[in-house]
Amino acid sequence: MDFELPEEMVALRELARRFAAEEIGPNAREWDREGEIPDEAIKKLGELGFMGTLVPADLGGAELGYLGNAIVIEEVARQCGGTALMLAAHNGLCQGHFMVAANDAQKKEYLPALASGGMFGAWCLTEPSCGSDAAALKTRAVLDGDEWVINGSKMFITNGAKAGVYVVTAKTSDESKTRGISAFIVERDTPGLIIGAKEDKLGMRASDTVPLTFEDVRVPKENLCGELNNGFIDALKVLERGRITIGALSVGLGRGAMEEAISYGQQREQFGKPLVEHQTLQFMLADMAMEIDAARLLVHKAALLQDAGQDTAIESSMCKLFASEIATKACMNGIQICGGYGYTKDIPIERLMRDAKLCEIGEGSSQVQRMIISRHYLDMKGVA
Ligand SMILES: Cc1cc2nc3c(=O)[nH]c(=O)nc-3n(C[C@H](O)[C@H](O)[C@H](O)COP(=O)(O)OP(=O)(O)OC[C@H]3O[C@@H](n4cnc5c(N)ncnc54)[C@H](O)[C@@H]3O)c2cc1C
Repeated sequence: MDFELPEEMVALRELARRFAAEEIGPNAREWDREGEIPDEAIKKLGELGFMGTLVPADLGGAELGYLGNAIVIEEVARQCGGTALMLAAHNGLCQGHFMVAANDAQKKEYLPALASGGMFGAWCLTEPSCGSDAAALKTRAVLDGDEWVINGSKMFITNGAKAGVYVVTAKTSDESKTRGISAFIVERDTPGLIIGAKEDKLGMRASDTVPLTFEDVRVPKENLCGELNNGFIDALKVLERGRITIGALSVGLGRGAMEEAISYGQQREQFGKPLVEHQTLQFMLADMAMEIDAARLLVHKAALLQDAGQDTAIESSMCKLFASEIATKACMNGIQICGGYGYTKDIPIERLMRDAKLCEIGEGSSQVQRMIISRHYLDMKGVA
């Protein structure tokens, strides 16, 4: 077991850290307020390969693997959760679904544009009436000659306002709940695709989240992505990988809270000494450091196993669950260390806290992760 990152990953971390600190951090408060990441920033993310972290080089991607992707996401999230969520949905979910299920022609048609950042991607599973029980979705696709006709609604779609392409799950058979769903590639300007207003969210405000309505949306038969009726099984594989990204995002947010709390606590004096010299606050920082390190180890373990081609359903759930919960805790304690100033927007921990809460909900809530993990160990009769 080697706990040292390979040289190229250290270099990648330095590149991502410097870029995020210089180009994202100083703007994050404004992007949070405006609810928008400017095109110029997306262009730079594309130039660095961060809009195509997981895509092979021959399709225009940076081919960084899951470890490289986790490293980039942690550094971006350290500065701005919303930008990291935009990347997570674009790379991990939309491009992730193409990598899991699309045929060669579909990959060649869409991945180069997505991986360069020239086109945004969105992934549409959740519906107004179902999130945790995603297989209960009601959107339906019916074959009519050479076209699929899609009708229904999707909810909470990250990047949905700007996307050029959407991967959309829809019911194609009533014979089975989980094996009666297929995925479709839908382009932005397809008639009948209605993009709703942006949600007014607690956090992750730089990233857009919209509802979508499909009214007789017609796509060519060839836009079926993956095997017919296997779309939900593919979606579970996408989520297995995506949860590693949310784990990394959470680590970045938790680390941000700790670093900001240390920086403030070193300046501010109470009772004649800096805040960080009071032992009660030191103990909070010690817990943060330990939990962030443990979370990162879980994330990197899942990423390395995924890069080695192994299934990581349990490792992905564990890293996402643990990292998201300790991130929220780190943010809450970070605010506590900063006192009244921590409760204002002068110190960015309040934003990190608002962003962190989403990581306990999106891509399967904490309760759903606990269901996945406990079922696995119950099946194995409890051997961990
Ligand atoms: C900012 C944001 C971005 C998102 N981006 C996307 C996206 O790009 N694409 C996409 O498809 N979806 C996206 N989502 C949707 C997200 O994945 C869902 O919100 C999430 O899966 C939870 O579903 P829900 O909101 O319908 O909650 P519900 O499923 O209604 O759950 C509500 C609560 O009940 C709990 N619960 C549910 N079932 C059980 C149970 N059996 N036992 C115990 N507790 C249970 C849940 O844990 C949760 O706490 C996004 C959501 C947000 C907020």
